[in-house]
Amino acid sequence: MDGFVRVPVREQDAKERATNFKEVCLGYNKEEAEKEALRCLNCKNPKCVQGCPVSINIPAFIEQVKQGNVEEAYQVISQSSALPAVCGRVCPQESQCEGQCVRGIKGDAVSIGKLERYVADTAREMGIKPEGAKEKKGKKVAIIGSGPSGLTCAGDLAKMGYDVTIFEALHEAGGVLVYGIPEFRLPKDAVVKKEIENVKSLGVKLETDVVIGKSVTIDDLMEKEGFEAVFIGSGAGLPRFMNIPGEQAMGVFSANEFLTRSNLMKAFDENSRTPIMRPKKCVVVGGGNVAMDAARTALRLGAEVHVVYRRGEEELPARKEEVGHAKEEGIIFDLLCNPVEIHADENGWVTGITCIRMELGEPDESGRRSPVEVPGSEFEIECDAVIMSLGTSPNPLISSTTAGLDINKRKCIVAEDNGQTSKPGVFAGGDAVTGAATVILAMGAGKAAAKGIDEYLQNK
Ligand SMILES: Cc1cc2nc3c(=O)[nH]c(=O)nc-3n(C[C@H](O)[C@H](O)[C@H](O)COP(=O)(O)OP(=O)(O)OC[C@H]3O[C@@H](n4cnc5c(N)ncnc54)[C@H](O)[C@@H]3O)c2cc1C
Ligand code: SF4
Repeated sequence: MDGFVRVPVREQDAKERATNFKEVCLGYNKEEAEKEALRCLNCKNPKCVQGCPVSINIPAFIEQVKQGNVEEAYQVISQSSALPAVCGRVCPQESQCEGQCVRGIKGDAVSIGKLERYVADTAREMGIKPEGAKEKKGKKVAIIGSGPSGLTCAGDLAKMGYDVTIFEALHEAGGVLVYGIPEFRLPKDAVVKKEIENVKSLGVKLETDVVIGKSVTIDDLMEKEGFEAVFIGSGAGLPRFMNIPGEQAMGVFSANEFLTRSNLMKAFDENSRTPIMRPKKCVVVGGGNVAMDAARTALRLGAEVHVVYRRGEEELPARKEEVGHAKEEGIIFDLLCNPVEIHADENGWVTGITCIRMELGEPDESGRRSPVEVPGSEFEIECDAVIMSLGTSPNPLISSTTAGLDINKRKCIVAEDNGQTSKPGVFAGGDAVTGAATVILAMGAGKAAAKGIDEYLQNK
């Protein structure tokens, strides 16, 4: 076997998948997974583990895959991760575990993400569940939000024996995993719901349709309902706009609204009662994972799609795999240009967008070269929809209704590494603290906060 090249993963054909919402990547089967696992050198000082924000014992689980022991492999992973089937699909492994793998020095890194996905999917098919707590502690903890940070914090605390309740504003649990990331990257019923059921199987209670800060406040939870600690994992769901002329026109959407209609409310399905615009020609503004998801969703709804991004290909913040998939499916990238105005017809509907060409100047504080406008280079793209995907910030509802909870200039909750906020007994983590980031960083924060809450309650 050529140890330098990874076992390729099967995918749905690009032309076919561009017209459906079924999962793009088909994952490894047993034979492929065991073959890929053999490429792992079981390093004494495994660099891959250092690259994993939740420190999964990667060589130990891969060793079990080599031997065909899926249950053992699953139990190794679930000591560190509550959502392995999710992480195996959406984590940016290339810049984390796989980015550190020694196999990557002279060839392809071990395909750790695809092996994690194989273990999680096979364990689910076999009905294997994570192991719960042996003893109860008799103390109540409230978790606000059921995204990856909340689910991880809840799962870890339940494993320690705490009585945990998650309060979720929406009618379904999962956060961005259900309302943001599309079905073709992360199946909801087959994958996300099953991982949430695993967290619930540890004894975690879930109350949906409860908006903390409206239905009940954090002080009510602690003073009237007997919760001794609270974790805030409310994410960063408030979209940003450009504030350019014409942005109020009909046919301009935030990526969050467009994706929520399609994913959470299943508007892509013609039998759904939630309407969604099916544009003919659509411009998506932005270059991150969210922009790729919005673009690929609009494509599947029948549109010709242009991604407009003000920097170049190298600077695209989306995962390379997502950009590659988008290109294969026929998304057109208009790089180094930026919108300046949106045009509408006499009824207020979008007819086009004026953009200006950009060139890259000096590096800014993030180290990336800043885009600078090329004078007189404006041009128009005709379109009937514009989807703004320019990032999001935390919703101020919780911070504005919780006395003593400090936030920073970016409206993010201020928290220490163990999640402790300025308010005693209240912890926070994930996008609510960092601003929009990644699933695995949110999970890492949920894990750290579970430890922090345990220490706080033991010393109380
Ligand atoms: C379209 C899209 C694609 C992405 N793709 C990737 C990817 O490929 N890989 C990756 O690693 N990351 C990706 N991300 C980022 C990742 O999903 C987030 O960083 C992660 O979900 C953050 O987790 P969280 O738990 O902090 O918050 P969230 O997932 O946002 O969950 C927060 C939850 O809190 C609930 N909530 C909010 N306010 C309240 C309240 N007042 N009361 C009760 N509940 C409340 C919300 O309804 C939500 O369910 C993507 C994000 C988006 C939007
Ligand atoms: S660094 Fe790569 S080869 Fe070494 S243990 Fe990790 S996955 Fe295996």
